[in-house]
Amino acid sequence: MALVNEHFLKLPNNYLFADISKKVNAFKVQHPGAGVISLGIGDVTRPLCPAVTEAMHKAVDEMGSQAGFRGYGPEQGYQFLREAIVKNDFLPRGIHIDPSEVFVNDGAKSDTGNIQELVRWDNSIGVTDPIYPVYIDSNVMIGRAGVVQDGKWSNVIYMPCTAQNNFVPQLPDRRVDIIYLCYPNNPTGTVITKDELRKWVNYALHNDTLIFYDAAYEAYIQNPDIPHSIYEIKGARKVAIEFHSYSKTAGFTGVRCGYTVVPKEVTAATLEGERVPLNHLWYRRQCTKFNGTSYISQRAAEATYSPEGKQQVRETIRYYMDNAALMHSALTRLGLTVYGGQDAPYLWVKTPEGEGSWRFFEQMLYNAHVVCTPGVGFGPSGEGYVRLTAFGNREDCEEALDRIAKWIG
Ligand SMILES: *Cc1c(COP(=O)(O)O)cnc(C)c1O
Repeated sequence: MALVNEHFLKLPNNYLFADISKKVNAFKVQHPGAGVISLGIGDVTRPLCPAVTEAMHKAVDEMGSQAGFRGYGPEQGYQFLREAIVKNDFLPRGIHIDPSEVFVNDGAKSDTGNIQELVRWDNSIGVTDPIYPVYIDSNVMIGRAGVVQDGKWSNVIYMPCTAQNNFVPQLPDRRVDIIYLCYPNNPTGTVITKDELRKWVNYALHNDTLIFYDAAYEAYIQNPDIPHSIYEIKGARKVAIEFHSYSKTAGFTGVRCGYTVVPKEVTAATLEGERVPLNHLWYRRQCTKFNGTSYISQRAAEATYSPEGKQQVRETIRYYMDNAALMHSALTRLGLTVYGGQDAPYLWVKTPEGEGSWRFFEQMLYNAHVVCTPGVGFGPSGEGYVRLTAFGNREDCEEALDRIAKWIG
């Protein structure tokens, strides 16, 4: 008899987005022809840019020729892409990363979920709250998170990010082994300044803490003073692993490519106190459990760094950020309090008069036929907020704002 991993049974049964679509479908059945518009989607909608599709076509042709065919690639990713990453994402910011510290993957979800395999099950973890659910759920699955009590996991330290602290999380009042940070933040759309990020790096250096830093939305940063990488902070190479993705940057949610940076200096300790470099452990882990992302995807990712690619990617991001600006000003004019949306494709909207997230979600659905995401789905501190995304097309976005104005105004 095979015994099940009972930690999986502790996970909430339904994924947030499954709950939402159930409610939306029920509404659609009762109101056919209402023309529901979703501002809740966490997926991009603009097509891949021409520089990327040209590179993909070329890669396909290579794969179909005897001379150009490639089978398994290097588990860590092709050298051409790792060098392009170092040269384009880090060197211009004065950050020195060696290609051997870059691990190309099939997207940031896999690695943000898998990275916790490198550390013992009894480490303590801290997360900002609200949060991208993958960080916690992946720890639940191996038993590190404990049990849920009142919507919180017993072994997770929550660092609330709310309007009260202007979405700047407080350093924990005790030492924590591992901390997850995500900036620009999903779901709140807020960012972290260099000074604030420096506090976290210093905390990690003083407390021997490992930071998992998710930079999936780095390309959306508009303000030149906001850091794009934690390695912009001195000392971060000793304490931080960073995750990047082409999903939101260049519309790769269906192509699948991202990368993780594991600097050679990052270590974890054995019980005897010996320091073990995580770069080698992650390499070993990837060689065992991952056979690389496709050559075609890696050539596509490389193309985002050509002069045309960079220009085209910027245009797409501009499009989404114009949506965000429209949404921000329209909602603010209606008297709503809106956060984020300046350096990230997410707007975090306070529900009026302290209404519950789910109740506001339902009202928006029934009165404006617009779908948002209830903030409480991202953690207890998300209660009283909803998330709107700027990933839709312009016409839908404008129509949705008109409807919200008719409802609230
Ligand atoms: C979308 C997203 C990712 C990227 O996921 P992929 O697997 O690369 O598509 C990573 N982190 C956060 C917070 C995200 O919202």
